Amino acid sequence: MRIDIISIFPDYFAPLDLSLIGRARTSGLLDVHVHDLRSWTHDRHNTVDDTPYGGGPGMVMKPEPWGEALDSVIGDASARLILPTPSGRPFRQADAERLAGEGHLVFGCGRYEGIDSRVAQDAAARMPVEEISIGDYVLNGGESATLVMVEAITRLLPGVLGNKESAVQDSFASGGMENLVEGPVYTKPATWRGHEVPPILLSGNHGAVDRWRRDQALRKTARNRPDLVAAMPEEGLDRRDREV
Ligand code: SAM
Repeated sequence: MRIDIISIFPDYFAPLDLSLIGRARTSGLLDVHVHDLRSWTHDRHNTVDDTPYGGGPGMVMKPEPWGEALDSVIGDASARLILPTPSGRPFRQADAERLAGEGHLVFGCGRYEGIDSRVAQDAAARMPVEEISIGDYVLNGGESATLVMVEAITRLLPGVLGNKESAVQDSFASGGMENLVEGPVYTKPATWRGHEVPPILLSGNHGAVDRWRRDQALRKTARNRPDLVAAMPEEGLDRRDREV
């Protein structure tokens, strides 16, 4: 997968050299390019913002540098443009799974009051454009939102995670966990500061362990995410699920 990121703070993306993503880049599974939006400005001050039409506080990102940046980064290639914004559709695990199947993603990181809306409009004539929010709160810029999405997407690429089963069992994963969060997890020692690991996990009975994990996932989802329980399709629940 190729990922291009356009931002006025390219240094923000240093963490993409670390950990699993860093390793995926070194091994060639992932090709990431970070671009400085200011390199597509032509004035002495490298201006990327201006006052909003209609008045009001703050500044808006100018369309010209964005237009040139997208023309240059995308060219004739087929790519999908992701614009992080609190006014976008919510980012879900299903989006991470869907976007992990794309060959080329471009992220445009807004700042100030956001990017002039004509940028998305203009780009949409040439490529799929998605405005995506990572949550119902407002960040200073799209950089941290992009890091969140890039991590959620790229960890699903084949070969990035050491054990591909772990992504399947994660909270929200398609194939059984769509509307569930993962229950509690434990490791050695079996007793720590007087707290015992649930005995079922030491039983070696894989069927019983799977059932216990699902029960725990259902309980934790009910406790922390009642909105997900309400959204669970009836047919996705077995008799035991309903008892939990
Ligand atoms: N005026 C905008 C609004 O009220 O919707 C907020 C602009 S915010 C201060 C600046 C930039 O941060 C946005 O253009 C976007 O790129 C990014 N951003 C802020 N919150 C975000 C969120 N929840 N999800 C994704 N991106 C976000």
